[in-house]
Amino acid sequence: MKRHWWLAMGGNLGDVATTLLGAEAQLAAHPQIRLVKCSRRYRTSPVGADAGTPFLNSAVEIETDLEPLDLLDYVQAVEKGFGRVRTVHWGPRTLDIDLLFSIPAVIQSTPRLTLPHPHLWYRRFVLEPLNNIAGDEVIVPYGHPVNDFMALWRTDWRVGIYSATARASQNDIIRAVAERFPLRNITAWSPGHPRPELLAVIGDAAGIKPLFLSLPDDVPTATQALIDAITAAEDSPVPV
Ligand code: ADP
Ligand code: MG
Repeated sequence: MKRHWWLAMGGNLGDVATTLLGAEAQLAAHPQIRLVKCSRRYRTSPVGADAGTPFLNSAVEIETDLEPLDLLDYVQAVEKGFGRVRTVHWGPRTLDIDLLFSIPAVIQSTPRLTLPHPHLWYRRFVLEPLNNIAGDEVIVPYGHPVNDFMALWRTDWRVGIYSATARASQNDIIRAVAERFPLRNITAWSPGHPRPELLAVIGDAAGIKPLFLSLPDDVPTATQALIDAITAAEDSPVPV
């Protein structure tokens, strides 16, 4: 089936501007892919303890009849062609290409491919380039156009932490994250219906409904994951 896809690209090793141009050219070179739109490039902050220096990010829209996993195979081959070596998870990289979402929508959650991309809504390094080419496109499971998420990050958004099992771990995470982001409102949260996991809920008082971020079970990993998410949400990408 023919679909439009929005892809995020980024890197922070080597001549990334040239790499991004090359990646666009390689997408366009595939006989079953039509390159529809390319965003501007944005300088963004690295996220994660080992991510390295600032990144350059962009987004593209393509049209293709490739099936999702075949498209993933192709973009991973393009990453490899530009020298991507997977060593440190979230480490420095020459080129990362992620599939964000498609129209008509593909909704699935498998280890190899989760669609829509579960982290796109809070990563400013993804949203800003995406908004540049697809501000009005609705991301189906979230039910919001891309520019609604941009609007959320301009509000005084807050973070709630919920733990299904241990109030102690909930409080530990709140304390550690609040220390790191002293100006942000970070509190305990109780869902209307109990949920089975540890999670953070991010949202503004009105407008966008709260969005959930599942956190890993152990406290240090959950704390770092939430710090990374808030760092990505607080970033201000600069067009270059
Ligand atoms: P990241 O993009 O999180 O920095 P990688 O690029 O190393 O990390 O991707 C790790 C794995 O994520 C890939 O091998 C891929 O199979 C999987 N993956 C799951 N969903 C997606 C998606 N929507 N787009 C791209 N890769 C995905
Ligand atoms: Mg990737």
